Amino acid sequence: MKNIFNETYESFEDYFKSINDKKYRATQLYDFLYKKRIYNLDLMNNISKSTKEKIKNDYDFSFIKIIKKQEDKDVKKYLFELLDGNRIESVLMYHNYGISLCVSSQVGCNMGCAFCESGRLKKARNLETYEMVEQLILIEEDLNIRITHIVIMGIGEPFDNYDNVMNFIKIITSRKGIDKGIRHITVSTCGIIPGIEKFMHDFNQVNLAISLHAPNNVIRSKIMPINKVYKLPDLIKATKKYVENTNRRITFEYIMLEGINDSNECAKELASLLKDINCYVNLIPYNETENIEFKRTKKVQILAFYDILKKNGINVTIRREFGSNVDAACGQLRAKTH
Ligand code: SF4
Repeated sequence: MKNIFNETYESFEDYFKSINDKKYRATQLYDFLYKKRIYNLDLMNNISKSTKEKIKNDYDFSFIKIIKKQEDKDVKKYLFELLDGNRIESVLMYHNYGISLCVSSQVGCNMGCAFCESGRLKKARNLETYEMVEQLILIEEDLNIRITHIVIMGIGEPFDNYDNVMNFIKIITSRKGIDKGIRHITVSTCGIIPGIEKFMHDFNQVNLAISLHAPNNVIRSKIMPINKVYKLPDLIKATKKYVENTNRRITFEYIMLEGINDSNECAKELASLLKDINCYVNLIPYNETENIEFKRTKKVQILAFYDILKKNGINVTIRREFGSNVDAACGQLRAKTH
């Protein structure tokens, strides 16, 4: 039996066709699930009894569970328990432009970035689409809000779970249902080049962020094992191709690690690496955790790094810090969940 929140609008149309029912049932069902947020078939009054019976036989309506919520000013971190007992997290952030949700895409992560708390837990499995959809709907219902922006940047590497993540995007952007703005969705990758190439054809309206974190191949390989597979020069080529093909600006995330990637020389090298790319660099002050020995770059050096990029014509911002009191900041998910 499939979970009902795995299904795109188009797959429901096919389903109703396959049971010799009307295609417009897909609209009715999506309307109940995602506009009215009714999950009990018995309350769906314009669907016939016999159709309801078929849906009941073919689909399961079970939900993951919120088991803990931590709050700190403009951030809320949710811990979920999945049906098999695994746990994942999502982080909600209030900005002046809207409310964003950082969604997890895997249980653990195999990419092994040296600075990342989430990656310390090896991947147990990919999340199914419904487990991502339910992160969103359960938090919206818990707080009675509408989330405006989604970033797929929580635990996991989205391109290592490509099909389920892409189905998730299809479901949440469907006009017939949740209807989030496609341009308000960002997928963040550590640099899986085949994923980038596929993504630019499949979803050229969705934002792409690359976790870059180093200005050259040597430093990147030291802190991001994926760089040994997809090397920095090839990654840069792929990002240029992405920008050319989609006409969209790309974001580079750059975590500032003291003595590792934060010198003035690194800033100059980064500026020269990115000079021909329509991009935006997001400098992220590192959040120190108990288990990892990296140190946060001093504020004065973050500003010096920022100035060098700026003077060299790179669009750059320093990420406002969120949630470090609840371990919800970047790279801190799953630091202390028990
Ligand atoms: S930074 Fe992202 S890709 Fe790297 S280990 Fe952490 S969760 Fe995985």
